[in-house]
Amino acid sequence: MINYSSCPVCNSKKISGVFSAIDYTVSKSNFSIWECEICSFRFTQDVPSQHEIGPYYQSDAYISHTDTKEGLVNRLYHSVRNFTLKSKRKLVEIQTRKSSGNVLDVGCGTGAFLNEMKSSGWTITGLEPDEQASKNAHELYNITTKNPDQLFHLPKNNFDAITMWHVLEHVHQLPEYLETLKALLTDNGVLFIAVPNYTSYDASHYKQCWAAYDVPRHLYHFSPKSMELLLSTFGLKLKTIKPMWFDSFYVSMLSEHIKNNRGNIVKAFLIGFISNMKTVFNKKRCSSVIYVISR
Ligand SMILES: [Zn+2]
Repeated sequence: MINYSSCPVCNSKKISGVFSAIDYTVSKSNFSIWECEICSFRFTQDVPSQHEIGPYYQSDAYISHTDTKEGLVNRLYHSVRNFTLKSKRKLVEIQTRKSSGNVLDVGCGTGAFLNEMKSSGWTITGLEPDEQASKNAHELYNITTKNPDQLFHLPKNNFDAITMWHVLEHVHQLPEYLETLKALLTDNGVLFIAVPNYTSYDASHYKQCWAAYDVPRHLYHFSPKSMELLLSTFGLKLKTIKPMWFDSFYVSMLSEHIKNNRGNIVKAFLIGFISNMKTVFNKKRCSSVIYVISR
């Protein structure tokens, strides 16, 4: 178990509990979410260590690691995914100004994004800790993934693009990762970090029932302010941020499910819609944000 006595981002001692959230997916246990008064970073307090967290990923319902199409939420997730895969590839190609090159996807899951990149002529490398997801990547797309430990042994100054789609919030070795990711990028390489945003409208509406808190698997809960500070600490430059419009609906649907114990799809759509309306005027309000970063 990890007990933080200071903020993992800015090191301030001015940290305190906000509320506790339940692990609805696996253990049904309570975890406390804390916030730093100085940089607004939130984190899961007394979180299982890297060696203890394995069991908290053991669930059929944990969608990132499975390919189930059962249930409305999962079906919606899959149809939207096909669209977002293409949008992600286009974003990478626009931001790197390349139509092919070396791409590293950290936490590649079943390999759908890497397959999209490979099909478009990119040379791919994927890291994935989950054995079943790695097997699926091989069976579905003929992609051989590496263990995340290999991140520290990959060639430096080699990747035109590095992507982490909803992965950084799961990583125990936060400083080591950021330092290494920076070193792996080419001089003009671009790093894409997508994470949930607890300062979004849907997060403030659902409070501790907001599905993207996903304790204890999500160790960190970023605000745009704390992410910018974290990046600057490692000498990384934030180029721009991009909203993830579908996440507002998806996370609201999951959150309604948590709140009512049976999904209220109309309410979820409304909350997702309001969240996106707020994002139209300020993209830092989106449910999930892609940070586009250079070295
Ligand atoms: Zn802080």
